[in-house]
Amino acid sequence: MTTEKLALTTTSPARKPRSEGGAGNPLAAELTRLLGPKKVLSNLSERLSYRFDAIQFGVTPLAVVLPESTEDVIVTVKAARRAGVSIVGRGAASGLSGGAAPMQPGVVISFTRLTRLDIFPERREAVAQPGVITLAVTEAARPHGLIYPPDPASFRTSTIGGNLGENAGGPLCFKYGVTGDYVTALDFVDAEGELHTLGRDAYDLAGLLIGSEGTLGLITSATLRLTPPPRFTRTLMAHFDEVGQAAEAVSAAIAAGAVPAKLEFMDGACTNAVEDYLQLGLPREAGAVLLVDTDGDDLETVEEERALVEAACLDAGGQVRRAEGEAEAAALWQARRSVSPALGRIRPQRMNEDIVVPRSVLPEVVRQIRALGDASGLKLVQFGHIGDGNLHPNILFDPRQESSEAVHRLAHQIALVAIRHGGVLSGEHGIGTMKRDFMRDAVDPETMTALWNVKRALDPAVALNPGKILPEQTDA
Ligand SMILES: Cc1cc2nc3c(=O)[nH]c(=O)nc-3n(C[C@H](O)[C@H](O)[C@H](O)COP(=O)(O)OP(=O)(O)OC[C@H]3O[C@@H](n4cnc5c(N)ncnc54)[C@H](O)[C@@H]3O)c2cc1C
Repeated sequence: MTTEKLALTTTSPARKPRSEGGAGNPLAAELTRLLGPKKVLSNLSERLSYRFDAIQFGVTPLAVVLPESTEDVIVTVKAARRAGVSIVGRGAASGLSGGAAPMQPGVVISFTRLTRLDIFPERREAVAQPGVITLAVTEAARPHGLIYPPDPASFRTSTIGGNLGENAGGPLCFKYGVTGDYVTALDFVDAEGELHTLGRDAYDLAGLLIGSEGTLGLITSATLRLTPPPRFTRTLMAHFDEVGQAAEAVSAAIAAGAVPAKLEFMDGACTNAVEDYLQLGLPREAGAVLLVDTDGDDLETVEEERALVEAACLDAGGQVRRAEGEAEAAALWQARRSVSPALGRIRPQRMNEDIVVPRSVLPEVVRQIRALGDASGLKLVQFGHIGDGNLHPNILFDPRQESSEAVHRLAHQIALVAIRHGGVLSGEHGIGTMKRDFMRDAVDPETMTALWNVKRALDPAVALNPGKILPEQTDA
């Protein structure tokens, strides 16, 4: 451990990375003996890249295993348990709550080589190993006239294992549902290294595993439901002076019977960041922009639904632009897809909140968060899946100039706003390390004990992804 810390603080590029797979690292040596050298990373220089996800730095793992079969996962879990170290599952590490960042020195199991994907068109299902890239499922299903709807914006890089770990959502999830809604069965390796196959029946243990961020078991295969894509899609953009009008329009459209496929929101600061980046002709003066898709197999109904949304936007005081044709629709959606790179130009780091609140309180919540951002002196923008009440207030910061305490304080205040308004801490990014402390505000002590009891029932030694989701209990 001492040598590890020394190596981490000595960052001279001229220094040759040392191999620690031998006597100095008995765990890596044992895993190499069991699995062979090609599946185990024991060099410090290699292991260093496995200590973070998209938001959080953790500690350097003692060993990284790249399993090529479920049996390799079982062997690794059993070896880690014999050594008494923690086990962290990792997909593409695109997570935004610290889920894949190890908090203790142990083993990281990186699923990127488990990429088998089989499509069964006749039963409209795919069977995917955890390392399959999300978009690959739809790409493989499309020739059979099918798609896999869950569409996190990261779908070109994120994996099915990570999506199940976080129960990922995306713009299409308002109408079509989140990852968990598409899982009909899964295989997982438990904390003792035993393999189980689960359907979605009594007690729905599979449902418990989904969204558990690798803290209850490691998913080695998932059966996913596929659906035919809608034949028609229509798109519109609406902009408003004030976010309250946008929220009113959303509520009115849904109350009138519209179920848009996508219903996305960007506040004025976010719209301006995108416009600075790409000059798409977005309305810079707007307080809020909505992007909406309606879809279905009957063109008349799809257009009627778009008309309902349009009328609700106009009634709420908005201005509306219909996309005429696919090219214009694609240009409008480019604005939403460009949020991440646009924000990356403003500050090198961001903390991406993921609260969900009832739609009825959205205007108040967005205003309160805006006021908190202004008072903090930090740069804050808001966007999200407004149809679900899922907001992503993003705190943009430069760690060289802005204190991480101030960022954490603002994130905590935002979490409290959500809780006070009957909301929850996470819609799709998970709790991880980022919102773990805030769980004490969201969950009463009795419920926390119940959650710890579930965790310990499945993982008595707290070996699976420790330091995530549940804060330590002093009396536990
Ligand atoms: C630019 C950008 C945009 C994003 N947009 C969205 C979005 O629209 N919607 C959304 O939901 N998320 C979004 N995310 C967050 C992230 O992409 C998702 O959480 C995604 O599901 C993580 O997948 P991953 O493969 O990167 O998982 P990782 O980050 O590697 O892991 C995520 C969690 O799953 C666990 N895990 C990984 N594999 C397994 C396994 N086989 N078994 C059990 N647990 C496992 C890990 O331990 C960790 O806790 C975005 C991220 C970025 C960077």
